[in-house]
Amino acid sequence: MLDSEEIRIKTRPSRNLFYLTVVLALVLSFWAFRNYVEADANQTRISARPVPAAPFIDPTWLDKKPMMRTSETASLGKGGTLAELLTNNGIDIITADRALDALKTMLNPRTLREGQELRLFYEWDVNASEETASFAGFDLIPAPTKRIIVRKLKDGSFQAVSASRPLTEKHFLIDTEITSSLYQSARNAGMAPSQVIELIRMYSFTVDFQREIREGDRLEVLYTRLFDPDGKQAATGKILYTGLTIKGKRQAYWHYKTRDEDKTYYLDENGNSISRLLMKTPLDGARLSSRYGLRKHPILGFTRLHRGVDFAARRGTPVFAAGDGVISALGVEGNHGKRIRINHENNYKTLYAHLNGYARGLKTGSPVTQGQVIGYVGATGLATGPHLHYEITYDDRTVNPLTIEMPILTKLEEEEKVEFDRVRQNLTRLAQDLAAGLDPLESQ
Ligand SMILES: [Zn+2]
Repeated sequence: MLDSEEIRIKTRPSRNLFYLTVVLALVLSFWAFRNYVEADANQTRISARPVPAAPFIDPTWLDKKPMMRTSETASLGKGGTLAELLTNNGIDIITADRALDALKTMLNPRTLREGQELRLFYEWDVNASEETASFAGFDLIPAPTKRIIVRKLKDGSFQAVSASRPLTEKHFLIDTEITSSLYQSARNAGMAPSQVIELIRMYSFTVDFQREIREGDRLEVLYTRLFDPDGKQAATGKILYTGLTIKGKRQAYWHYKTRDEDKTYYLDENGNSISRLLMKTPLDGARLSSRYGLRKHPILGFTRLHRGVDFAARRGTPVFAAGDGVISALGVEGNHGKRIRINHENNYKTLYAHLNGYARGLKTGSPVTQGQVIGYVGATGLATGPHLHYEITYDDRTVNPLTIEMPILTKLEEEEKVEFDRVRQNLTRLAQDLAAGLDPLESQ
């Protein structure tokens, strides 16, 4: 297990071992490089591939004669210390202290939480019986990408090393009909909550989540998750492709990292970014009341008499600044109750009314950035229930947020279109493979 993990050491190896290690490093770098080149030649730019492991093993461990070894797992109890854990497992206090001093060069033991597992190692001479086993150290995984090993050396002292654990990226595809809400449908299809929220944020530029999503609309998402060497999920990954079909019209976006800027965007097939000057849904779309079964108060769209749109959500739901700008008014204003007005570029202005309160520190004149929380949903002013009343004006005329074409913020440079098209085709092929039940890991 150790040889597949990168180990950082703090001691200086002897000369012969140093050369041996250098040779080993070269061989393994070549191996890693060859794998990398092969992967590129296959054009599997976006396929599952563990980060190549670098090759160091502490030489002071290699000169130990072969020993029999066993391990047992113990976990940190509530309010317990590592010293207690070790002594409770029969390790004398002096040895335990030495081992923990070594650990402290790598990690503050106080950052460990209840339930943290430790593997305790015991070893004995091959010619002796197991009864002669003695404590040989322990290891722990304080974070999915990191293992710390505390090992007893020949002279009886302890040394800690840190090994990085390469994560493997795996791809997942969902293709589902929206039944209740986009959030619930994506969750039911297996997406993690944080990724669904990210997805909703992406579409909040172009979709009104209160009015536009209907039963029967369709959602496709190609996304990744990261797994540690034990096969346990370590993190959610990226959304690589998404297609949302509303009333038969598909809005598809691909994840793309530009070559020079090192920035990532979600681009449509023409290279236009998903982001817009203003958001269509300027609050957490995952927390909107379902449009089905709204009884308590009418949710109004844009009409001649109602010159904005209403979003019904629970009191306290965060409200976002729809775009970058400056707050031009913040306070109580008649029927609007507590409200915020923001001036944006290009003569756009927005209004957020019936707020329960404002985000701390904001006042008239404060600059805000797109997506920043500015206040919370409430029912102040003339409101029959908690909701956000959202208005957009352009050149001082109110406009319908549902039908207005918002300026696109970013467009891919023409020279980079070729590269983007290649990435887009790769992602599309990957999605097709997954849809056909092929595992891209095995198809390599
Ligand atoms: Zn309203």
